[in-house]
Amino acid sequence: MSKEHPDITKMTLVCDHSGCGWTQDTSPEDASEWHKKPCPKCENGEIIDDDDLAQLNMVLCLSLFQQAIDPEGKLERGSLKLDTATNSVEIKG
Ligand SMILES: [Zn+2]
Repeated sequence: MSKEHPDITKMTLVCDHSGCGWTQDTSPEDASEWHKKPCPKCENGEIIDDDDLAQLNMVLCLSLFQQAIDPEGKLERGSLKLDTATNSVEIKG
């Protein structure tokens, strides 16, 4: 990952258990370490479940693709939002 890809190098994990509010800043590469791990605060659920991991891999693929077509970061960057609550990946131009 290079600095030209700020939208995908940073990621915030959020516990979606109601009333918990735990968050953790991480990167897409490190986020997979939270796969199947319970929330450290409320100990409920999984921070990254199988669906989340599939999306995470998609984000990493997109990032690699972006670097492949634009290695010097000359194209205008869109933003990419991974929403694990709704299982959606949102890409804005
Ligand atoms: Zn929690």
